[in-house]
Amino acid sequence: MKNYQAEIVAVGTELLLGQIANTNAQWLSEKLATYGINMYNHTVVGDNLERVEQAFQLAQSRSNIIIVTGGLGPTADDLTREGFQQMTGLPLVEDKESMEKIEEFFQNRGRTMTPNNRKQARVFEGSTVLNNKAGMAPGMYVHYQSCHWFFLPGVPREMKHISQEELFPFLEKVTGKQRIIQSVVLKFIGIGESTLEHTLSDLIEKQTNPTIAPLAQDQAVVIRLTARGETKQEAEAMLEQTKKLILARVGEHYFGENEESIEDIVVQQLQDLGYSISAAESITGGMFSQRLVSVTGASNVFAGSFITYQSRIKEEVLEVPSEIIHSQGVVSRACSDAMASNVTRKMQTNLGISFTGIAGPDEQEGKPVGTVYISIADGDEVVVSKQFNFTGNRNHIRDRACLKGFELIYQYLKSKS
Ligand code: ATP
Repeated sequence: MKNYQAEIVAVGTELLLGQIANTNAQWLSEKLATYGINMYNHTVVGDNLERVEQAFQLAQSRSNIIIVTGGLGPTADDLTREGFQQMTGLPLVEDKESMEKIEEFFQNRGRTMTPNNRKQARVFEGSTVLNNKAGMAPGMYVHYQSCHWFFLPGVPREMKHISQEELFPFLEKVTGKQRIIQSVVLKFIGIGESTLEHTLSDLIEKQTNPTIAPLAQDQAVVIRLTARGETKQEAEAMLEQTKKLILARVGEHYFGENEESIEDIVVQQLQDLGYSISAAESITGGMFSQRLVSVTGASNVFAGSFITYQSRIKEEVLEVPSEIIHSQGVVSRACSDAMASNVTRKMQTNLGISFTGIAGPDEQEGKPVGTVYISIADGDEVVVSKQFNFTGNRNHIRDRACLKGFELIYQYLKSKS
């Protein structure tokens, strides 16, 4: 494929004044990227003849696919045609079909056509008229001194319509192939977004195909890989190769792909190992159980949970020894361990997990907001017993605790399989 360098020139003072955002450029760039066409410049120029011409000259000097949006309308400040004519000297002629369409438009609405509307039907001699099915002013394609110029209306709906009908098929033709795009979302847990990005920074900077895009999501740290290939197989092979490179560095935090959630994976792990689980929830108030139960097939592995919020219930229902509660408090490692062991025994499951902590806004037992203990018992033995200091508001802390619980179980079960 020839080396194409694309540029978008958006014409309109409204854009410069910040009255509207250049969504046309954003939309077009995203599409062009999928054709493997380099987009090097976005230009925005106001409705001023000299500056429009200058912007066109600059585009002509450095790019070979130039997409101009806006300034094709009937009013005096629509100067795209004039700017290009001033640069090229190309004559403008009235396009019969476009003119008929404009006349019809006014007739159908019973309105008189003002003379300036004729302006919209003027196209460059020798240009290809790009039919505007969504509006009045047609677009144009001009091949001028080795540059492919596309003139599209500014109205986003019309611009998109003509792009789909005319511009993209053209790009498919010049790039010689219809590109297949495949993408995959890789999901990670137990690693912060910035650490992940830092660990992969050289890959992220270097890669253009597949692209590697870290995304922020509530329940996981996520990377989207997008590959373009001539065939589905080629694109998938590229994704697989990049995935391997990434997992070689951060594989220990990887848990699943695309729509898979951590609870889906944990239920799967429990099923594979033939394990059952129960929970003793204080700070999470049932969130952990709720998430587990949302997974189809949870009944095979999840026995149930105790939501033991008040100290009295921890003591009476879960039989946490009162000396632990009185000497160390309910937000303590000892209490958390006892909760995990006791729920495992009472529910007769293989595993039991417990959550106890301080969600705030006030501190408790002299411990700061965000202090959370999570324990996991496997049979008689407490196998995980951790303290965390989460930040954020009340519900944020509770969410973090719940997610951390899933992470700890995931890692523990991974070590067993
Ligand atoms: P028409 O074909 O309808 O006469 P035009 O080609 O003259 O349109 P403009 O008059 O420049 O285009 O813009 C028409 C409207 O389209 C603007 O008022 C604005 O709402 C929207 N528009 C123009 N340019 C952009 C852009 N780059 N991004 C998003 N919206 C735009």
